[in-house]
Amino acid sequence: MIEPMQTWQQALSDLITDPRELAEFLQLDPRLDPIGERTLGQFPLKTPRAFAARMEKGNWQDPLLRQVWPSHVEQLAAPGFVADPLRERNYNPRSGLLHKYQGRVLLIAAPHCAIHCRYCFRREFDYRENSPSREQWRKAFEHIGSDASIEEVILSGGDPLALADAQLRWLIESLAQIPHIRTLRIHTRLPVVIPERVTDGLLDILASSGRQVVMVLHCNHAREIDHAVATALARLGGAGAILLNQSVLLKGVNDDAETLSALSKRLFAENVLPYYLHFPDQVVGTHHFAVTLERAEAIVRAMQAALPGYLVPRLVREDPGAAAKTRLA
Ligand code: SF4
Repeated sequence: MIEPMQTWQQALSDLITDPRELAEFLQLDPRLDPIGERTLGQFPLKTPRAFAARMEKGNWQDPLLRQVWPSHVEQLAAPGFVADPLRERNYNPRSGLLHKYQGRVLLIAAPHCAIHCRYCFRREFDYRENSPSREQWRKAFEHIGSDASIEEVILSGGDPLALADAQLRWLIESLAQIPHIRTLRIHTRLPVVIPERVTDGLLDILASSGRQVVMVLHCNHAREIDHAVATALARLGGAGAILLNQSVLLKGVNDDAETLSALSKRLFAENVLPYYLHFPDQVVGTHHFAVTLERAEAIVRAMQAALPGYLVPRLVREDPGAAAKTRLA
């Protein structure tokens, strides 16, 4: 039976949160990759049904499944993998605000996401300390307003598009009142995992900001982009947003040049430019996604040999305290 299409709010409140349900849907036996119950308790499963529908049934190695499966291997000790590898706590002058780089600040606009990516570098982030009240938000806006060198505000999270339209509109309208803000950059995975989020209301919020809007999508594999995602991306681009993509280089998901080249071509077909390829951060519970620097550089070299430059994302790493991301290849 064909299910009636859900609104994005319905899809967001109807996520798969039980790994056993996900395994059953994919016709997999969870005993073959046992669930890490302890890490699941700290960082629960969240998978939109539309995203699960893009996974291949009966395939434990499906690259979309690997990104969300709360495997027991997360619980194995891994020296060097820590809770806050980027030491973001050092750059958190106000609740909800990170000021790491010159000329731009990052707002933790939403304390939650539509999907839980097991490799997430903020999986241990203290969102309770970074869920500002309106009064605290006003103080963050004052911080931005008092520093004319800040020309760009990055809305991150969590996922800023997980906010209800009324809250998102208030945030964006408040920022648009600061004259030296030229660009609003939105880092989001929602148009990829719940494409219904790209509503007329969202397009209106973006258009009425009066600022240049850059949307940095987060997509790691070409199979994440189906017809509904392509339609959502076309609507965003048609509304004037500049579309870029960032991926994380993940062992077992996309750690070869063919897979990443296919992703770049798929993104470009939807008018999205590949922007960053992140060398994975050493976050506790994510060591099974780690790729060596030599392998990462070899992958990028192979992409450079096979693709035009604009389809090769910049391989970068975040080093705590550095003035910008570190370019690796
Ligand atoms: S959507 Fe982004 S912030 Fe949320 S869990 Fe995934 S990687 Fe982390």
